[in-house]
Amino acid sequence: MEELPIEPQGILWQTDFITAEHEARLVQIFRTKLVWPDVRPGGRISLHYGYTFDYKTFGVDPDIPFKPFPDWLQPLIPPTTYEGRPPEQVCLQYYPPGAGIPPHVDTHSIYDQLYSLSLGAPVMMQFRRGDDRSEVDLAPRSLMKMSGDSRLHWTHGIKKRKTDTLSDGSVRLREDRWSITYRWLRAGGECECGDAKLCDTAQRRNGVEREYRWKTYDADNVGLLPLPVDTKDSGAESQAVAAEP
Ligand SMILES: [Zn+2]
Repeated sequence: MEELPIEPQGILWQTDFITAEHEARLVQIFRTKLVWPDVRPGGRISLHYGYTFDYKTFGVDPDIPFKPFPDWLQPLIPPTTYEGRPPEQVCLQYYPPGAGIPPHVDTHSIYDQLYSLSLGAPVMMQFRRGDDRSEVDLAPRSLMKMSGDSRLHWTHGIKKRKTDTLSDGSVRLREDRWSITYRWLRAGGECECGDAKLCDTAQRRNGVEREYRWKTYDADNVGLLPLPVDTKDSGAESQAVAAEP
């Protein structure tokens, strides 16, 4: 994979991780063979594979057995040459046109490496740290690894909107999109990055208590650290995640 020459540092990229023909077969499976949860109006929906994380013990939930990767998913798992082993958790998400995901970081303590594969229509992803902003066009069939700053010190999200404006000023209509998120568990379950704003380990050490109970009620937000509402950011989206304590 190659690092994108942009801020934030640490976004590794592989164009055409699969072929367009392979992608078309997958989309057909996603549309016709999978049993999805009910769609909330304009919302994304998720299917989970692998281990389920228990937010009470901060470990693998011993009561929920490993959900094997289905046949269609096997060829989409990053090769073991990438991270030395298959991911512990994989999440398939469907984004109907207009759907987004609020700015967030994937929980530092639990998860280490983070990859995502984009399928279907492209979408713009916003990275953000304080007043710094950066946009990445998530092209279909691209595999992205978030490492370094992009993983730990910048949030990422997708705005809820029907169109994206590209860097050349043209406007692109949103269409059906799927993403596959791959997560590897962090050995020891403690992150040493020290980011008091975004790191749950640093926050716990600083005495900031967070309530993780809400995650068990919202399967679409598994693994995401809720962020405080930022009045400088577009309100509704942030609140969607941050409204729960
Ligand atoms: Zn951290």
